[in-house]
Parts: sequence; structure tokens; C-alpha cells
Amino acid sequence: MVEQPRVAVFSTGGTIASIPGAGGGASPTLTAEDLVRAVPQLGEVAKMEAVRFRQVASPELTLLDMIELAETIKRAVADGVTGAVVTQGTDTLEETSFALDLLWDGEEPIVLTGAMRHPDLPGADGPANLLGSVVVAASPAARGLGSLVVFNDEVHLPLFVRKTHTTNLATFRSPLTGPIGWIIESRVRIALRPAVRHHIMISNVGNTVPPVALVKTTLGDDGRALGSISALGYLGLVVEATGAGHVPRSMAEHLGTLARKMPVVLTSRTGSGELLHATYGFSGSETDLLKRGLIHGGMLDGPKAKLLLTLLLMAEAGHETIVEAFAAIGVPGCGAAFRGP
Ligand code: ASP
Repeated sequence: MVEQPRVAVFSTGGTIASIPGAGGGASPTLTAEDLVRAVPQLGEVAKMEAVRFRQVASPELTLLDMIELAETIKRAVADGVTGAVVTQGTDTLEETSFALDLLWDGEEPIVLTGAMRHPDLPGADGPANLLGSVVVAASPAARGLGSLVVFNDEVHLPLFVRKTHTTNLATFRSPLTGPIGWIIESRVRIALRPAVRHHIMISNVGNTVPPVALVKTTLGDDGRALGSISALGYLGLVVEATGAGHVPRSMAEHLGTLARKMPVVLTSRTGSGELLHATYGFSGSETDLLKRGLIHGGMLDGPKAKLLLTLLLMAEAGHETIVEAFAAIGVPGCGAAFRGP
């Protein structure tokens, strides 16, 4: 008899684990054991293990949690686990999956999933998402892909995936590329594979995460809030500009001043597409901002750029390394894998 793959489910809370309490509102209550027990079909796919890692709503999770989770999964893999599934809230899943992807250089897949409807609602999607995720985590086809998001029978890369709808079950989309695979009749199809994987090694993690601010540009913004960024103790800034990398003139001046003090990364608020490099020349245009020392964020959106910059600062990367990392990770298909600092 062929030995079944060993898959460990790490629960962190979220809607998939939430049931209504006395006050009426749902909150994370179920553990990994509960989630696994509720889907008996999992036993046909893999030998299951269940680990309760956290029990929170996903905005409560932190980068330190993800670093600890990557270490926990590493130990499970050393112990013979062949794939990991992380269940969590959907609100921050596009960020946590990206963090785990950058922190994980193993061959074993780490699959993140959750639910849009809690288990007490008609049409609850948690069990199907969990089953799909275990199918992917157990499959040799997913080896070497790093971390993946499996939701609504689709497989997405964290680099591209976003939560795009407040309540729709098909909320996870990759606007630039689409999913890289899908699940059919409890089998996974991986149709596309990323050209490279990137890795950021974090050692000597203290208890602090360097504070990085994320500021969104809006019509007529004079940039006055930017004047407080340094005083508030931020060590880096990500700006979500309009369109392909444009801000009002007065904001450009504030950004230029800040870029002389700390890394300032330029991203777009549009939610899809790469920033321009050299098309417009007005004050506040992409060429102006790059000349003022802003770092080109490629196709990364604000939250992902913030996460990458935070990890790089944690790894004590210097300015050149930060620029190099954004060029490699933010512009997929344009360079070699980033393996530093
Ligand atoms: N609505 C969220 C979810 O899908 C709550 C959370 O992110 O924890 O789980």
C-alpha cells in the first residue's frame, strides 16, 4: 500500500473557525482539530495532523506571528510533514501568504485558506476550501511552489493575489495573471509555474517590527500628513500614488524630503499593473518622484510593498539592497531570484 502524504493544518482563527457566541456575533472559536474533524474526506487525501497556532481575527495577526509560524512549519517538515495548510481570516490573507512565501525556502508547499461564510451559515465555504487546500498541500505538483492561496477551487500565487470583494465567495483574484491552477474532482491542476522564487532570511528576530507607514494619495492631497512621518518614529514609508505613479506637486516635495531620511517606496493605488518609469515629466510624475529618490515598487500594491520593506528592514538591508529587492520581486520576470540580504 502506498503511504499517504502527511499534511499538517495550522489554525489561526478567522471566519473559517468562527461561530456565533452569546452576543450574537461570530468570533474565532474552533481549533484545527475541530476543522479537520468536520471534513472526513480529508482522511482519503492525507494523513492529517492538526495544530492550533493562534485563535484570532486576521487583522490581529502580525509579521512576528508569521516568522514564528514559518519556524513551526519548518520543525513539522523536519519531522516528516510533506505539506502544510494554514487556516486564517481572509482579511489579511494576501499579506500573510506573501510574508510566508518570502520566509519559506523549503520544497514543501504551504497553502493558506479561509472562508467567507462561517460554519453556521448556509453555503459555508470553509470545508470545501480546507479540502481543496489539503489536496494541494498533499500533491507532488505543488512542491517547490512556495506558499499558495487556495480558495473557491482556485490556486493563486501570493505575489499576485488580492481580496477583491467584501463578501463574495470568489473574493480572491489575481488581477494581473489569474490563478495558476485549479481543483477538479479532488485533484489539483497546476497550469503555470513562477519563473523564480524569492527568499528573505530573517535571523536574530527581536520582539519589534520596524514601523513602516502606508499613505494613500487622493485628489488634492497637499501631503501635510507626511510632515509627521519622521516624528512618529516610522523608519520607512510606502506611498500609494494615483495611476501609474503620480502625486500632487506639494506631496512630491514632502516625499522628496522624506526619501533623504528613509526608504520611500512608490506604488499605485489602482490595484493592478506596473508603475511607469519614464513616461511623464510633470512635477509629481513618476520620473520626478524617482529623481527625488523614491524606490520603484514595480507591480506590488501598498500592503505588499509595506510588508516587503518591513522584512528588508528587519533583515537590516541597506538602501541598495532594498532597491535591488523591489526590482527583483516587484517586477516579476525581470530578473534573477532575490536571495539576500
Ligand atoms: N472576515 C474575516 C474572515 O474572513 C475576518 C478575519 O479576517 O479574521 O475571516
